[in-house]
Amino acid sequence: MSKPTLTLASGNAHKCEEFSEMLGMPVRSLKDVPGVPDFVEDGDSFEANALIKARGLRNFTGGWSLADDSGLAVDALGGAPGIHSARFAGEHGDDAANNQLLLEKLADQEDRSAQFVCVLALCGPEGEEWVIRGECKGQIAQKPSGEAGFGYDPLFHPEGYDQSFAELGAEVKHRISHRSVALEKLLAHSDRPLARFL
Ligand code: IMP
Repeated sequence: MSKPTLTLASGNAHKCEEFSEMLGMPVRSLKDVPGVPDFVEDGDSFEANALIKARGLRNFTGGWSLADDSGLAVDALGGAPGIHSARFAGEHGDDAANNQLLLEKLADQEDRSAQFVCVLALCGPEGEEWVIRGECKGQIAQKPSGEAGFGYDPLFHPEGYDQSFAELGAEVKHRISHRSVALEKLLAHSDRPLARFL
């Protein structure tokens, strides 16, 4: 029997590429699903929004779907931007403006601790559902550096490193990131929910 296809409920090419690289297999994105509707992420947590996206895509295709809802929680900002990370500065996905606003909000702030959060929701055609959270602690730098990755990567120094994710690159990021922690938990889950794809 051929293996089922895994589709990520996201149009974010960076996220899709990270999952493909970490799993060592192709992962489709919403761009590969013609006619797919917009899923309204109106949940009040990463978990709720991940489930909205994964259930919406599973219901549309009838197949397996994986959703990633992720963001940056900064301690001195009470956990902001959190679930609003993609549109912190107003426009969805404007990484440069988001990073700039974050630096402005943290000007003169001594506590620069933060964590990246990733919640994965995996939904199957028979109503199967798993929801898993991964986190990666670190510090927000005084200025952006590095070219790799996306989003807040140029500002985020993971714990134990004095370079940003954007400087450290994919190999280090795939070992320690919030996304890789969540994916490892899903891979190690006693139900073995990802075994059918590998
Ligand atoms: P989502 O697509 O609604 O889950 O928004 C995720 C947002 O969180 C992205 O647009 C980024 O701003 C931020 N984010 C999530 N994961 C990462 C990461 O691995 N690196 C940098 N920024 C991230």
